[in-house]
Amino acid sequence: TVTGAKPPAATPQVVINAHDLPYLNSKLPVKTRVKDLLGRMTLAEKVGQMTQAERNALRSRTDIATYALGSLLSGGGSVPTPNTPAAWAAMIDGFQLNAQATRLQVPLIYGVDAVHGHNNVIGATLLPHNIGMGATRDPELSRRAGELTATEVRATGIPWDFAPCVCVVRDDRWGRAYEGFSEDPALAKAMATVITGMQGKADGSQLDQNNHVLATAKHFVGDGGTTYGSSTTGAYKIDQGVTEVTPQQLEAIHLDPFKTSVDLGVGTVMPSYSSLDIIGDDQGPVKMHGDAALINGVLKQRMGFDGFVISDWQAIDQLPGDYPSDIRTSINAGLDMIMVPTNYQAFTQGLTDEVTAGRVTQGRVDDAVGRILTQKFKLGLFEHPFADTSRLSSIGSAAHRVVAREAAAKSQVLLKNQDNVLPLASTAKVYVAGSNANDLGNQMGGWSITWQGASGNTTTGTTILDGIKQVVPTATFSQDASAPLEGHDVGVVVVGERPYAEGIGDVGNGHDLALSDADKAAVTKVCAAMKCVVLVVSGRPQVIADQLGDIDALVASWLPGTEGAGVADVLFGKRPFSGRLPVTWAKSEAQQPINVGDASYDPQYPYGWGLTTQAAARQKLTDAKKELLRKDFLSPDVLAAVINIDLALHVQDWSGPQATTALAALGQAGKYLQRAMVDSFADDDAVVSAARWIAQDQIGQNLDEATSKLTSDADHLALSGDLTGAITKLTAAYKLK
Ligand code: BGC
Repeated sequence: TVTGAKPPAATPQVVINAHDLPYLNSKLPVKTRVKDLLGRMTLAEKVGQMTQAERNALRSRTDIATYALGSLLSGGGSVPTPNTPAAWAAMIDGFQLNAQATRLQVPLIYGVDAVHGHNNVIGATLLPHNIGMGATRDPELSRRAGELTATEVRATGIPWDFAPCVCVVRDDRWGRAYEGFSEDPALAKAMATVITGMQGKADGSQLDQNNHVLATAKHFVGDGGTTYGSSTTGAYKIDQGVTEVTPQQLEAIHLDPFKTSVDLGVGTVMPSYSSLDIIGDDQGPVKMHGDAALINGVLKQRMGFDGFVISDWQAIDQLPGDYPSDIRTSINAGLDMIMVPTNYQAFTQGLTDEVTAGRVTQGRVDDAVGRILTQKFKLGLFEHPFADTSRLSSIGSAAHRVVAREAAAKSQVLLKNQDNVLPLASTAKVYVAGSNANDLGNQMGGWSITWQGASGNTTTGTTILDGIKQVVPTATFSQDASAPLEGHDVGVVVVGERPYAEGIGDVGNGHDLALSDADKAAVTKVCAAMKCVVLVVSGRPQVIADQLGDIDALVASWLPGTEGAGVADVLFGKRPFSGRLPVTWAKSEAQQPINVGDASYDPQYPYGWGLTTQAAARQKLTDAKKELLRKDFLSPDVLAAVINIDLALHVQDWSGPQATTALAALGQAGKYLQRAMVDSFADDDAVVSAARWIAQDQIGQNLDEATSKLTSDADHLALSGDLTGAITKLTAAYKLK
């Protein structure tokens, strides 16, 4: 409740000629500017810097100046109307104008949760959630994803992102499992390169560029290690609960990714709502927001973190004791800015009182404010507080969607592939079913347009069905598999979870990890009628043991984001499956928590599991090459095709850095083969089948071109009286199709 707090006392009436002041001189070192500015600030102004309010909680916009607020945020779903990139930029610029009206003109630092792209904004590019990024095991892709996100976020005038979650996910029942990269700290550390993508160089010297924002490593520490339903935590208190660990486990599992984040220069760290119960210290659980040993001791002193610590949403209120004690405990534990975020009046008054009474020292306040101002200077906010609206077109741009599509494709994990049913031929008669086949909202998950996310077309993108239809326009779709099943070669059933954020997860589906009855029924129907591929679109592994025997191919699709076409890319072999499980896939919920290295480890699919279709593709190509070389006469076109096939086969990993070389070589091979067919090899089976395979699976777009060339050649030959020639060309065209 608002405690009738008074605004801070009127600020000194000094008329300043802004441009003469050292702190406004961008040529001076950041340290000098911080020292100069700190020296000019009143206690009220310093307290204001340490205060972050939710933009919806502002009683009036002039409170930004009245309370000298240092920061505002949009919590999940706190969006302007209309929710367009331009409206975001205008909104934040408006707030900055209010900050410019303060005595010292210290700009605000605005923050949002952009945890998989600029996910609050309609039209932005949404990447797979972190669990899918973990499956890619591609740190360079993670870096690019970070830069993409930063570019879109910064374009709207927002310099700060509460991401990434570097949590190590030890129990899939946690409703935030999808926000983490892995159960393995080594993988979480490897993917922390997203921080470099977001911020640039570790020294912060690139933070003022328009493709960078300040990152937040969260939630410090042990958020992914909470105990489920134990005596201390109570049933279902897996989110915001207690992490019980030995000092060794704390170091090796949970602290390690934060060390990496600090080394990468992460600008801010957010403590966890959860508590830490260190086994053997007899202290009982300590709330992270009051844990001086961990925040001051380990994070700031031992790891040398020199950015600032931002609290989680209203989290200090959960500390034991009254509100003044919450403030005192958290600030003295090392928190620098508090995400209050609604009753900023009570917080500023409370902190002022604590300092006045000497229970929080001036030195602690100066340290906190110095850290905050340092980041504001590095971000270039004093020079450029407003959005560069010329950059708005980057939001949801074609170039960004290409990256997100690549990430969606690389995040797919092939768990089972009986009789090599995958990849599918583009000529296959495909039947599509399941609750997540044609639902953009479901495939984006939580933290998408709204905090919890929502089913339906909440933004722009391609659903998995859209992606399939781009390859097979005639694909049949029936969500509950109620359309006639006959006449199809293969079924693709897309099942899984509905969106959620925090807590225990998919509440509509109960807290358990089983598929819904409707999804189970769709799988049963389709898999009984034809060969079937099941895609699980979910934030964590689902229990699938009962139906596994009926399923020919099983894919973990995670939450792929806005670019469902990326999922179709691997289904049809345009890219090989290359993802590997970032978490263990359990047989039953009763196995939770289950993690690689456990004494009795008996999962459905182990950590790191993931088949690849590369092997099958390589085999096909090797066979095709052999067939071609068996010929008596090799035309220059056929020879060139063979050389290109060879080149592609020489690339060791088609999902690795040289993927483009392999794809380009295959594209060339396909073109040469098609030319060979059109010229003189139209009835040569080896050439036709090699051309068809390459064209279908790698460069489908050339197939139509070759077919129509053959058909028009046949027309000409027929008109000129060469009926045999015409028939040969038509047969080739038919074979190609
Ligand atoms: C979440 C944080 C998030 C914050 C601000 C909290 O509920 O735990 O991860 O950054 O909200 O939206």
